[in-house]
Amino acid sequence: MVEAKDVVVVGGGFAGLSAAVALAERGFRVAVLESKPELGGRAYSFMQEDGGDQVDNGQHVLMGCYHETLDFLERIGSRDKLFFHQDLEIRMLDRNGAEAVLKTSRMPGPLHMSGALLRYRHLGIGERVRLMAGGMKLLAMLRRERAALEGLTVAELMSRLKQGERARQCFWYPLSIATLNDEPEVSSAALLAEVLKRAFFSRRSDSAFVYSRVGLSELYCKPAADFIEKRDGVVAAHCNVEALEFADGAVARVRLRDGRKLGASNFVLAVPPHQMLRLLPDGAASDPFFARVGKLESSPIVCVHAWFDREVTDAAFAGFIGTTTQWMFNKRRIFARHGERHPGYLSFVISGARKLVERPNNELLDIVLGDLKAMIPAARGARMVKALVLKEKHATMAPAPDTFRLRPTANTPVPNLFLAGDWIQTGLPATIESAVMSGRAAARALEARHGEKTLAVAA
Ligand SMILES: Cc1cc2nc3c(=O)[nH]c(=O)nc-3n(C[C@H](O)[C@H](O)[C@H](O)COP(=O)(O)OP(=O)(O)OC[C@H]3O[C@@H](n4cnc5c(N)ncnc54)[C@H](O)[C@@H]3O)c2cc1C
Repeated sequence: MVEAKDVVVVGGGFAGLSAAVALAERGFRVAVLESKPELGGRAYSFMQEDGGDQVDNGQHVLMGCYHETLDFLERIGSRDKLFFHQDLEIRMLDRNGAEAVLKTSRMPGPLHMSGALLRYRHLGIGERVRLMAGGMKLLAMLRRERAALEGLTVAELMSRLKQGERARQCFWYPLSIATLNDEPEVSSAALLAEVLKRAFFSRRSDSAFVYSRVGLSELYCKPAADFIEKRDGVVAAHCNVEALEFADGAVARVRLRDGRKLGASNFVLAVPPHQMLRLLPDGAASDPFFARVGKLESSPIVCVHAWFDREVTDAAFAGFIGTTTQWMFNKRRIFARHGERHPGYLSFVISGARKLVERPNNELLDIVLGDLKAMIPAARGARMVKALVLKEKHATMAPAPDTFRLRPTANTPVPNLFLAGDWIQTGLPATIESAVMSGRAAARALEARHGEKTLAVAA
């Protein structure tokens, strides 16, 4: 047995690290155990073998409305590694070269959004007015008909809001697929409504995009580990937890694959849902509280990174309408770093990529390059130097309407066991903000149940 800690946190992604940071701030001694060689989970970066760029596993965009994430980054001393746009400004490109900008006006929120919608030139005047009316009706539904929204898909919601095909394709569906990571026909309308309320119909600053100016791992992994270790905690990679061992109806210790065991007063599992189930003994896993989690499904994301001999656009990012590729990010502008060897570095995202994820990398690259050339004519003359295709098969929880009854709370029926992860019931789709909210919720739940007792043991 190694030395007992107050709390063992299993999983070193955003959820586990934010739980551990919140617990360390409350005076708990924490051990974070991560199975992989590096922290970061589904939001990590790595250095290219040729020493060129830091590559994120996929472009991660934060928004001003990610209040918990921004606060977490502030506490670990990383907020200054972010770039904050002042306003929402998204260039949306259409196949025939047409460009329209979704740009919020200078009015206070939520009026700022009306400026963006009413000036959105991909839609005719009548469509823009209907879009505005649809947004207002959605907010009213969120206030008064929440239960009905929870049973609807995004596509069904569009019919209720009387949104035509063009408004769906140019506005609603790009936002929905980007934020929920699945097709509108199978995604929850209530989740979309929650995102839109927080991101677009609140304060002006909540709508703006926020990026990391450094690789994802540099943004939060090391700073969070330093924070925890300075408060008498331990953060250990290469620690694959194989099982939780129970005694007297509570968790007594975790057993690692290499045979080591670690006891604690409390445990937080901050791993994806199916991994969580595998760690429980049969008796606990069949408890309806845990068992229903087994019905949560996942949805993939494909990311393509491509380096060119020149910069083909000055846009920091752009949305593509009507192509397989949905978003393009200009990493040179985002990192504010110009590559000497490869002046152009673009990364592309295809969310909800169920139909693509099994296709070979060269086919995916061809699709993305074809889409790029269709959207940005300047790319036709550029030479691609190298490329990288990254597939995340289980990128996020699939945002189906029935997830509302499947997602568990941080508190579990086991008195000293707590759950965290972007898939916990936060009311949000599986995003960084949901992961951080869940981690902090687990810390609060643990403190509420066991704070005094655990601290007394520690003393
Ligand atoms: C390509 C891609 C793009 C994305 N883009 C965005 C975006 O733009 N904006 C946004 O907000 N979100 C985005 N997301 C979602 C975001 O990355 C996730 O919501 C978030 O990272 C989830 O964090 P987590 O801590 O809940 O889970 P994870 O990151 O999965 O962390 C769980 C950790 O537990 C570890 N683990 C599992 N089992 C064990 C075990 N038995 N023992 C020890 N450790 C274990 C895993 O190795 C992992 O490190 C994106 C995701 C992907 C994949």
